[in-house]
Amino acid sequence: MLLISPPASRICEAYPALARLGGALKAHNIPYRILDGNLEGLMHMINSEVSNDDTETKRAFRGKQHSLAILTSTTGYTNFDTYKSHIKRLNRLLNKSILINGQEITLANYQDPTLSPLQSEDLIYSSNHFEDNPFYSWFSKRIPAILEEMEVTGDSIQFIGLSVTFLSQALTAFAIAGFIRKIRPDIQIIWGGGLITSWNGSPGSRNLFHERDIVISGPGEIPLLKLYGIESNSNFIMPDYDFALQNKYLSPGFILSYNTSVGCPWKKCTFCPEKYEDNPYISEKRTKVTKELKALVGKYNPILIHLTDSEISPAMLKAITDNPPGAPWYGFCRFTKLLTDLQFCKHLAASGCKLLSLGLESGDKQVLKAMKKGITLEDVPIILQNMKEVGIGTYIYVLFGTPEEDREAALRTRDFVAQNAHLIDFINAAVFNLPVNSEEAQYLNTNNFYEGDLSLYSEFVHPKGWGRKEVRQFLKKEFSSVPEIRQILNRVPPVFDSSHAAFFL
Ligand code: SF4
Repeated sequence: MLLISPPASRICEAYPALARLGGALKAHNIPYRILDGNLEGLMHMINSEVSNDDTETKRAFRGKQHSLAILTSTTGYTNFDTYKSHIKRLNRLLNKSILINGQEITLANYQDPTLSPLQSEDLIYSSNHFEDNPFYSWFSKRIPAILEEMEVTGDSIQFIGLSVTFLSQALTAFAIAGFIRKIRPDIQIIWGGGLITSWNGSPGSRNLFHERDIVISGPGEIPLLKLYGIESNSNFIMPDYDFALQNKYLSPGFILSYNTSVGCPWKKCTFCPEKYEDNPYISEKRTKVTKELKALVGKYNPILIHLTDSEISPAMLKAITDNPPGAPWYGFCRFTKLLTDLQFCKHLAASGCKLLSLGLESGDKQVLKAMKKGITLEDVPIILQNMKEVGIGTYIYVLFGTPEEDREAALRTRDFVAQNAHLIDFINAAVFNLPVNSEEAQYLNTNNFYEGDLSLYSEFVHPKGWGRKEVRQFLKKEFSSVPEIRQILNRVPPVFDSSHAAFFL
């Protein structure tokens, strides 16, 4: 079996889904190969010809190997300005590589102004016209070559799995699927990943897949093994990152991406797709997580562990704190009461916790209550102060334009952030998108957002006149312009943001 992650998303680490699936196959002696097409595809584009020979592009082209060497070593992360300039140079090369019709590629993204990944017709078009995809020159050679290698070693290739997590991967995933169907109609395609799960049951997904395709929603390990006649009841078989070792991800060392759970233990926030997709929350046993993390650290010696859970539960935080993995780590959690305990935070820091991404969303009590975030605003400065005291960095997420918010509430959030700016390391400020299946979507005046039948969000008329246009203007003119806030926003690593943030603390 061949597992592929298509381009394009951040090329700083191997995504854990492939490692988990590989681990499950390995545990049952099923031969498999993993192709990190995201990294390979983007590197192919970086190394391809450039269509423009202006001075800046020529300089970027000449210094390409140097930029790659810098960004794959610790020296590239000692000076933020140097780091930014090398990211900019590589992005320039990607943008000047041979593209057509205004296609855009960066180190984390691919988009085509003529095709939308939210439109099923466009994905089908991409599948039928795979040779128009900018990554065709890479996958049309690489996939046949890897299939040949597998056949030479006697591996039977019954299935090819495509793992699609981000919208920026979708058009190329469908192009790859079209290409595989053309060259190897005998091989069955298996679809999985976060985006495929989110699309499950949506009207647009009905015609998206071929009759012979297998579509897996949610964790893929159990259904994948079932295809080989193996009954398993575990979603958490030890992941296998061997495929990632020879790959040069754009990071100063190996980042071990690992999930302790799938879904969210809270699952109540009214703005979050986790609530409406209603996927079950499945957590691995805490003793197994801590044991496994230690074993993986021993085997792969990561520079950083990225816990990719939507939300690390307080119980899991405690377990990891009591049994440190042996390498620095970061992850996402809420402003939970547990973090108001300074003693606990000291242990957390001692366990290797470098950075916590924390969803504040709003600095207005009424808005927080309405969005069911389940946090107490008074706890936030205490937690931020604790984090500062013990040396754990903070990446704070704020969200503007929810149906409950008005301009005054947004100003309260801005002032709250500004007052606490000395305790915050990084900020992500986002504009609210209304999940298509949310309760609010039932009573608000809505219409299609991206005009795509696969859209996960709806456009809506804001009941308080605080629409996307007003929010965008506010973010630009009244939020980002506050000097204390601007300073924090300027610290966020471009393109890779939270993925590289821990290296700049
Ligand atoms: S805690 Fe995070 S992942 Fe969970 S429902 Fe809220 S926003 Fe979504």
